[in-house]
Amino acid sequence: MIQTGVSYFANGWPHHLERDLDDIRAHHCSYIVHCFSENEMVFARQRTAQFFRMTRDAGLGCWANPWAVLGLFGGEQFSAFVPRNPEACQVLSTGQRAPAACPSAAETRAAMKLWLAMAIDFGADTIFWDEPHLYIPGWDDLGFAPDDALACFCPRCRDSFRVRFGQPMPKTLTPELRLFRDNLMMDFLSEMIGYVHDRGVKNAITLLPVDDTARESLPWNRVADIRGLDIFGTDPYWYLHHRDCETFVREQMKKTMDVCQPRGLTAHFWAQGFGIPSGRENELEAGFSLAVESGAQFIAIWGMHGNSAYEGASDDPEKVWEVVGRTFRKLRN
Ligand SMILES: [Zn+2]
Repeated sequence: MIQTGVSYFANGWPHHLERDLDDIRAHHCSYIVHCFSENEMVFARQRTAQFFRMTRDAGLGCWANPWAVLGLFGGEQFSAFVPRNPEACQVLSTGQRAPAACPSAAETRAAMKLWLAMAIDFGADTIFWDEPHLYIPGWDDLGFAPDDALACFCPRCRDSFRVRFGQPMPKTLTPELRLFRDNLMMDFLSEMIGYVHDRGVKNAITLLPVDDTARESLPWNRVADIRGLDIFGTDPYWYLHHRDCETFVREQMKKTMDVCQPRGLTAHFWAQGFGIPSGRENELEAGFSLAVESGAQFIAIWGMHGNSAYEGASDDPEKVWEVVGRTFRKLRN
């Protein structure tokens, strides 16, 4: 059966979750992707454990998402690690210290494992690796660094680049720098995904739906080969990227299935629940249906109620949520 998910955030009250669980089940979701931030890691551990337990008790799958944790994943959160560990942060080609941890630092790896151990102990059945990336300047609405600034030029990375390639790090994205950046994320993800797998928990990953030549892209085939990975997918947000729904979903699902099929990975697919212009809500039904026809077995929506709890709400949040519920119901039956 097709599994249907929704991301969950912006609420800390158990009695609200109680109601949301009814709402989520009434909209035919079978799993929740809990956005577990560094803030909650410090200030709301008990409540997070309780939320995970309530989710499982409601008969729903419980995914944990490192929500912008360490600045290495998607999400609208600041990192608590960054100001405490300046030496472990990424350095940009401009010389600026980025508000994101460098995957090569021992402190970064220890912090990630601390997050993972908590999420697993709290009862997550799947760890969701959401849009892993080195610092992307264009994602920062405050314009911290120029768009062409690249990571990572920290002393650790510069040393290992010199050892590997026998030359100093270039300031532009040469093939050597691209390979170096890929390896940086690959080493980190391989270690962390292996750790989760060895603890008996599933791993799902979503990579950005960008061309291989885009600077924020990761090598899909190499990522898919990581030991312990179970579920692989992408999030072709056609409203956000100003793309045609059918073309974008078809193209990204083909790319996803080409990666999943030979490896026996389960394909998954995200649709955008935020920023949907009024009158275009029904495109969600078309997008989800096409993803399932193409082979996706896990489909999910980013944000319940049109993401109205955060920046970039849909114009008509209730209409979006209604279309999601109707579509999930149809695709599960
Ligand atoms: Zn570095």
